[in-house]
Amino acid sequence: MFSRRQILVASGGLGLAALVAGVLPKLSPGTALVEQAQADEAFEVTHSDSEWHSLLSDEQYAILREEGTERAYTSPLNNEHRSGTFACAGCALALFSSATKFDSHTGWPSFWAPLEQAVATRQDRSFGMVRNEVHCRRCGGHLGHVFDDGPKPTGLRYCMNGLAMTFKPVAA
Ligand SMILES: [Zn+2]
Repeated sequence: MFSRRQILVASGGLGLAALVAGVLPKLSPGTALVEQAQADEAFEVTHSDSEWHSLLSDEQYAILREEGTERAYTSPLNNEHRSGTFACAGCALALFSSATKFDSHTGWPSFWAPLEQAVATRQDRSFGMVRNEVHCRRCGGHLGHVFDDGPKPTGLRYCMNGLAMTFKPVAA
């Protein structure tokens, strides 16, 4: 027989495991697509609307803060093939390694996995579609969407706006 305390500890452990599983970025196919961020998600980096306006260009603001989308094939990061790191244009958090970048032929920089603890997702029902919105874990800036038609090993396609990111090549 389990004591009441043992049962409580066991269920508490399961709850913690579920919490951790919901926070860590998913690398297995499909699982990121059911993940949904809390409505009251709090971010480490916050600014007032006017501060964001002064920190970002108008185009960057429209994407990061208003969930806009840049026109396909307009980002120079589409053709960025050097080794390095793609970071959030809002708070400089490292988001993606060039090692996970692939050519999706969509006109947007695409990756099959984010760096650990880099992004979070929530369900986006705009434009009559159900999509999984991807945003920066640290400042909440909108980055793009994730789809389940990506390449191995994850099967995921993180379709990102180039304007939402900066690229830093590794020193040669
Ligand atoms: Zn950020």
